[in-house]
Amino acid sequence: VLTLGIETSCDETSAAVVLNGRKVLSNIIFSQIEAHQKFGGVVPELASRAHLEKICYVVEEALKKANLSIKDIDVIAVTNRPGLIGALLVGVSYAKGLSYAAKKPLVGVNHIAGHIYANFLETNFSPPFLCLVVSGGHSHLFWVEDYGKFKILGKTIDDAAGEAFDKVARALGLGYPGGPAIQKAAESGNEDSITFPVAQIKGSELDFSFSGLKTAVLNYLNQQKQKGIKIKTEDVAASFQKAVVKALVENTRQAILQIKTDTLALAGGVAANKRLRQEFSKLSQELGIKVHFPPVEFCTDNAAMIACAGYYSFLDGKVSDFSLDAYAVSDF
Ligand code: ATP
Ligand code: MG
Ligand code: FE
Repeated sequence: VLTLGIETSCDETSAAVVLNGRKVLSNIIFSQIEAHQKFGGVVPELASRAHLEKICYVVEEALKKANLSIKDIDVIAVTNRPGLIGALLVGVSYAKGLSYAAKKPLVGVNHIAGHIYANFLETNFSPPFLCLVVSGGHSHLFWVEDYGKFKILGKTIDDAAGEAFDKVARALGLGYPGGPAIQKAAESGNEDSITFPVAQIKGSELDFSFSGLKTAVLNYLNQQKQKGIKIKTEDVAASFQKAVVKALVENTRQAILQIKTDTLALAGGVAANKRLRQEFSKLSQELGIKVHFPPVEFCTDNAAMIACAGYYSFLDGKVSDFSLDAYAVSDF
């Protein structure tokens, strides 16, 4: 089964062709970073327009690179939730038009599920496993019992991990997107120079909270400024990164012990972080469990993961009709 995946939920316009949900024949990603950089974050209206400009091109490229034409495709999978509504609508409208014109079945995909499915690309990794999804807008611990069978064990009660990276990077003048910039700055910093607090939520140990950490960093920056002390950006970046990773590792450790699984997977843009990967590798050794990280290019937004998720929904008979709509919020 050949799946054409389409992703336009945020600031990446992407199309991919995936064979049997696993083998990536093409994965074309047009990043809008340049368009948003001067504003320090994603501007929704600019994102929608940029998707419109690039959508035809990325789909054509994806088919071309896979050496296929639309006639060869068996199913079209498109992200329809959650994300920026205007951005999602570009992908959904395009996919509906293509599905109608080429007479191909259409499947709507949840973007967060897509991040989880990134774990299956180019591997034979399979459920059940515990999955930590850490992205720009989400921080969730899922028990993935089977394809399409997810149970939320914990989630953030305020900011997402990626959001914290982006906001702290902005305060440090490191620009957007914040995650890669903080990772780079942190490499030449001392992560033990400042102790930032890691929130733990009483009564729901598997939930996360990152807004307190973000505020602690902002307060630290203001205090140093008032005292006339020059801040060392690298040290702040490294200490902040250490605190985020610690919070993620601790809750994940709790979840592993609670549900007694022997397999952990990571997903989402923040899972690209090198320091995070080191600490989760350590955790897996310590607990004697397996840990799976998708390659970096499949952690951040891409259409290959959407094609994979769409393929498994298609196998499950979950085909959409032309009433398929876009939704800003997730159904989980
Ligand atoms: P969501 O998936 O929740 O809708 P999104 O699609 O914007 O949000 P992703 O594309 O999964 O999120 O990931 C982007 C986020 O990942 C950004 O917050 C970015 O700063 C962060 N990120 C990317 N690379 C790294 C890295 N190396 N270290 C830390 N964070 C990173
Ligand atoms: Mg993005
Ligand atoms: Fe994402």
